Amino acid sequence: MKTDLQAIINEEKIYGLMETKPSPDTIDDILNKALSLKGISMSEAAALLNINDDEALNKLFKAAKAVKEKIYGKRIVLFSPLYISNYCTNNCLYCGFRYENKEMKRKKLTVEEVVEEAKAIINMGHKRILLVAGEDMEKINLDYIEEVIKKIYELKRGKGEVRRVNINIAPLSVEDFRRLKTFDIGTFQSFQETYHRQTYKKMHPSGLKANYEYRLETMDRALRAGLDDVGVGVLYGLTDYRFEVLAMLSHAEYLDKTYGTGPHTISIPRLEPANGSSVAEQPPHAVTDRDFKKIVAVLRLAVPYTGLILTTRERAKFRPEVLELGISQMSAGSKTNPGGYQEEESTEQFQIGDHRSLDDVIKQLSETGYLPSFCTSCYRLGRVGKDFMDLAKPGLIQRFCQPNAILTFREFLNDYASPQTKEAGLKCIKNHLAEIHDEKLKESISQKLERINNGERDIYI
Ligand code: SAM
Ligand code: SF4
Repeated sequence: MKTDLQAIINEEKIYGLMETKPSPDTIDDILNKALSLKGISMSEAAALLNINDDEALNKLFKAAKAVKEKIYGKRIVLFSPLYISNYCTNNCLYCGFRYENKEMKRKKLTVEEVVEEAKAIINMGHKRILLVAGEDMEKINLDYIEEVIKKIYELKRGKGEVRRVNINIAPLSVEDFRRLKTFDIGTFQSFQETYHRQTYKKMHPSGLKANYEYRLETMDRALRAGLDDVGVGVLYGLTDYRFEVLAMLSHAEYLDKTYGTGPHTISIPRLEPANGSSVAEQPPHAVTDRDFKKIVAVLRLAVPYTGLILTTRERAKFRPEVLELGISQMSAGSKTNPGGYQEEESTEQFQIGDHRSLDDVIKQLSETGYLPSFCTSCYRLGRVGKDFMDLAKPGLIQRFCQPNAILTFREFLNDYASPQTKEAGLKCIKNHLAEIHDEKLKESISQKLERINNGERDIYI
């Protein structure tokens, strides 16, 4: 089956849409439509991306907040990355891991070292890991990945364990994706980095990743191989962000039409300084905080049911401002070098902006009205791919996600939280329970909380 690349991304069409200059009335109409939670078209997204005045921008932010809260409530799912290798045969100019960066201290973790890293992540209280690796398929082959994932799932640390392993490694062939599916992974993530062909060519001068088309077809191969959940993303700062957002929305729309399910998640990495990279030091199209927030808000309105992931690339002080505009998942307590959780001295991929511990992040989330979640139940109950999207309608997400967030958060508080975080967290749970008006559901959650307090774990709806 040959992929119609023009259907995924049509540069001329996107440039045309970027010219859309909306009147205040048009903006109001688009925002009203978005509030009905049905998403907005690419041309409507283009109009919103061209907003420049503060008044319209504030209206956009208000609408994004409303949509986020209607669909996701205050729940935020937490995870941590586990970098298994920084060997790479590609030469992405923005990345510290690139082949030509001779200053990079290289390291591929042994299976035993991966297990040690996973133990450290479990000991923080996490239940979800994102496995990350540089692209060197000789070093990071599927036998190794299979072994590593198996060992991570087998780990038990007191009451802790990893319940979902997501993965961000080199794009694979259909055949290899078929094999990857058998490893019981959650989401397969891979970012196009930039959808702009010319910029792509400039930024990826050599290695397999230099092939724009092969990269663009990654999710087609993954979905044809039967993977349930895929995650896309753009590395913001390489070219005009308006082009990137529209191109990514076009990609998402294409996947939805072709395979019956769009991306499960969208990541929004923004270029950060990286060891040995002048591009990362001075991004060619640096995205300001204001524009970054606009990007998140527009994505939230355009694809209301797709998870939006914010990482520790962003500064601790700035993260709360972005969270409220539509983020549903965030990393915390992260290290971006292989062995980082063991204080290994390999070089990190890029500088992180939020160095707080998971405990500190959880305390702040609890105190600011959010509900931290360690839930992994959808994936384990087979609510994935199209089934997940069909369920992901307001009430239904609330019906599963909210209770499961409360249950898994209570596990965290009992097993890992500092006394101050526990105090803040218990208050937070109480407040969120009070907001559930279905008495039967409330009763069922209370009973399950009691079981958790009596030592049972991994209880979900
Ligand atoms: N090597 C694989 C790849 O490139 O797809 C997967 C792992 S790579 C370590 C994960 C992501 O890190 C890349 O897709 C890219 O978007 C992001 N990244 C690379 N350099 C970065 C930088 N300087 N700042 C922020 N993110 C960066
Ligand atoms: Fe390698 Fe990925 Fe970094 Fe590119 S972004 S150099 S492929 S690790």
